[in-house]
Amino acid sequence: MNSIVLHFVPLCIIGFARCLPLDLDMDMTAGLRTSNHVDEGILVEGDIISLKSIHSKNLVRKPSQLWPNKVFPYTFSKDFDDLQKFNVETALRDLAFQTCVTFRERTNEPTYVVFKNYAKICASAVGYADLKNLGGEMPIYVSAPGCVMRGQIQHEVLHSLGFWHEHARPDRNEYVTVHWENIRPGSESNFEPRTWEDTVTLGMPYDLNSVMHYGKKAFSKNESPTLTPKNSPLNENMGQRFRVSKLDIAKLNRLYECDNRYYKGYELEA
Ligand SMILES: [Zn+2]
Repeated sequence: MNSIVLHFVPLCIIGFARCLPLDLDMDMTAGLRTSNHVDEGILVEGDIISLKSIHSKNLVRKPSQLWPNKVFPYTFSKDFDDLQKFNVETALRDLAFQTCVTFRERTNEPTYVVFKNYAKICASAVGYADLKNLGGEMPIYVSAPGCVMRGQIQHEVLHSLGFWHEHARPDRNEYVTVHWENIRPGSESNFEPRTWEDTVTLGMPYDLNSVMHYGKKAFSKNESPTLTPKNSPLNENMGQRFRVSKLDIAKLNRLYECDNRYYKGYELEA
């Protein structure tokens, strides 16, 4: 799955009367590859609808960017059929039993996620923002038929919970090689690493198996690899969208300060 991350770009969320000062991190599929503009704003990096320029670039840094009370309230757009709802709920249930974050249908929470279709894209904001004065809807695009796999949905949900892409970690050059010569012109920003100034990793190691990592041919212009792992060149899991990794869960549980009943990867600390 290819991705674009919008950083520091004002955007207008569909249905909102005005633009929001949000970064948009959009996981894009074929539908919008040739365009750098969608209703939500200008796409800069690939697959995220993200929030403001205060983000850290592996995990969000500020408590205000985490979902309040560790509750992730959500609804579905009217055009979601039973199968689409089942896919999303299956993905959420798989997360729910591994973390202290509660996933539940929205009741009266002022800001809440709406799972939506739009073209073929997978897309989500990064982290929470208080939108109660802007309609309250935080869209996550898990569009059918392009974005229905459990790992794709979990990827978008982790963005919303506060995760950026794994391969954007500042230390990624120790673990992967970026083959700039194979990247589609105009897509290079998808591969730019972040800096330690805006990044927290919560002491956790780099994770090639993360559901937040790109695959080896992401944004390739010629079917040759754009990303290859350095220490395990035969790694076939990089870019997997089957399911969140063990480390993804550990990071989530650290980010939301879950208690020690939940897996926090203490044996893996970097
Ligand atoms: Zn993404």
